[in-house]
Amino acid sequence: MAGKIKPIEQQRQPSVAVEVTKNLLGFLLSGDIKPGDRLPPERKLAEALGVGRTVLREGLKSLTVLGLVEGRQGDGNYLKATESEFLPRAIEWGMLLGAKVTNDLIESRQVLELSIVRLAAERITDKEIRKLDELMDKMRDADDAAKFARADVAFHLVIVKAARNETLLQIMNNMLSLLKVWTRRVLAEEVDFDELIDQHSGIVEALRAHDQDRAVSAMQLHLESVLSKLQQTVSSTGGNIGEQAN
Ligand SMILES: [Zn+2]
Repeated sequence: MAGKIKPIEQQRQPSVAVEVTKNLLGFLLSGDIKPGDRLPPERKLAEALGVGRTVLREGLKSLTVLGLVEGRQGDGNYLKATESEFLPRAIEWGMLLGAKVTNDLIESRQVLELSIVRLAAERITDKEIRKLDELMDKMRDADDAAKFARADVAFHLVIVKAARNETLLQIMNNMLSLLKVWTRRVLAEEVDFDELIDQHSGIVEALRAHDQDRAVSAMQLHLESVLSKLQQTVSSTGGNIGEQAN
């Protein structure tokens, strides 16, 4: 009996739980399991991971707290959430993206969005310009970082839509949701939004004039300022916001 009881390695315990959670997350994101599906029994999961049930439950608990997994009394664990909110929420935990990937994303966004704004300057409609004006008002009225961030992201999406290119729209949609948590974090540190409002307003005026070169310069000015702050934030946290208590 005593031979079967293994001593707990106290120091290693937290990192094992993190590894288990990472592996489970990888499994849940693999696509083999769909939202609403039941997860394999705990016994099988523990076996597959080569860990004990207690450590496995730790991992499952983390995912439950995040709203990714739902434990049903006497009926096992289910993959919760709709597909659309699942991935961004997992990413929000900062487990999937390291600093390198995040910086690559930031760089890609810069490259793409400059081309997008050039197309948008040519194709944007009056209705879309009015939408941008409304979002500018929302940014001016925003009394907290979260409200500002929502208007900011929406602003960029209107421009992406105005480029009238489905492929670019999809790529940018994914990119913006992957970067959302970082954007929010940077904005939370920003005390004064006036500079950002000026930058956005420069973009709107160039688009209103359908001036492609001016739209590109205005967007470049804005992205360089925002994305360099974003890069600083990412490198100062090592790309792992999951371990920073909030
Ligand atoms: Zn912006």
